[in-house]
Amino acid sequence: MKIFVVGGAGYIGSVCAQLLLDEGHEVAIFDNLSEGHRRAVDSRANFIRGELADRAQIEAALSRTRPDAVMHFAAYALVPESMRDPSKYFRNNVSNGLNLLDAMVATGVQRIIFSSTCAIFGPPERVPIDETASARPISPYGESKLTFEKILRWYDEIHGLKFVSLRYFNAAGATEHFGEDHRPETHLIPTVLKVALGQSPNVEIYGTDYETPDGTCIRDYIHIVDLARAHILALAASASGFYNLGTGGGSSVREIIAACRKITGRKIGTIEKPRRPGDPPRLIASSEKIKKELGWRPQFQSLDAIIESAWAWHQKFPHGYEE
Ligand code: UDP
Repeated sequence: MKIFVVGGAGYIGSVCAQLLLDEGHEVAIFDNLSEGHRRAVDSRANFIRGELADRAQIEAALSRTRPDAVMHFAAYALVPESMRDPSKYFRNNVSNGLNLLDAMVATGVQRIIFSSTCAIFGPPERVPIDETASARPISPYGESKLTFEKILRWYDEIHGLKFVSLRYFNAAGATEHFGEDHRPETHLIPTVLKVALGQSPNVEIYGTDYETPDGTCIRDYIHIVDLARAHILALAASASGFYNLGTGGGSSVREIIAACRKITGRKIGTIEKPRRPGDPPRLIASSEKIKKELGWRPQFQSLDAIIESAWAWHQKFPHGYEE
């Protein structure tokens, strides 16, 4: 198939592009490199530098490449930043995303795989969180993704645009070539590994008074290769749908730090800080629906294997892609 990967120079998009190319698909990557990196673009892909904010640009790129499907990874994805600057999140994640959908309708591209997030749920009534849980986001980031999911439903109903929306829990890990390089880095695992590399003095633990066994937040860390495989399976989905994607297990902040100490063999100091706004205490996925309907199976079930892959990448690229 011909796949048009929007945001394919970013963390998850780059890995998905790699897997698509490995499987023999043709890939065009559309990215403005505001968050992504030129070196994260697979050399086998056709790279188009462009702006989602510019509807004409995206329409021209779709007309030229004539893809069978779009994968949409291009979004801002930081809860704390969204709590300070909601406009940035609604503008990019909703308005610019609409440009993409309208350009798809105009050029007759009828299938989209969308990167959604567990942040659409907010604090859950129960864990694991399945697709019937109510969506009550507590950050503009989560709200922006939920809004886009609602738009997808209407575009399906009105324009016949088929979608699969994948709600990622916490993406983590790396392949040999592609890994996590956000600037600034705020995600837990790369932040801890930077302390292990001696690039920053301590890990700050945001909140130690949550109602969890060790007082720190629990997240479901899922390997990006498992996320990428779900996208490829979604290409063959017979109907539109929403799927939660995680391993079904959870690790606390302190457990992540302990695992990183064990795997790196390095000293990792910590400082306890107040809670970070917008953080629910515990997010764990139920991925039964995608297992049943699309035949998805996570291959990286252990936290250690996920962190080992991330550590291998960070050692190989200690200063990320810009080195
Ligand atoms: N966290 C932390 N210190 C950090 C970064 C993150 O304690 O330097 C915590 C954060 O408050 C959350 C968890 O680690 O409870 C995962 O945060 P991350 O930003 O990696 O992902 P999120 O769950 O926000 O998507």
